[in-house]
Amino acid sequence: MNKDILLESIISCPKCQFEKEEKMPTNACQYFYECTNCGVLLKPKAGDCCVFCSYGSVKCPPQQKDSGCCA
Ligand SMILES: [Zn+2]
Repeated sequence: MNKDILLESIISCPKCQFEKEEKMPTNACQYFYECTNCGVLLKPKAGDCCVFCSYGSVKCPPQQKDSGCCA
């Protein structure tokens, strides 16, 4: 019953469109993310628990497991 959980997500900066692959923590959500290109501090969009859900190519591990999130 083990679903494959992806731990890497490509974050796309909404300001400069810079893309960077980041590792996601398995049991926590990352609420803030600073773009390494333009330095903007990203926060999740309304209704999303973390920056990976809002801006990443893959949702965060708790969401992938359907176990809800830490928020
Ligand atoms: Zn940026």
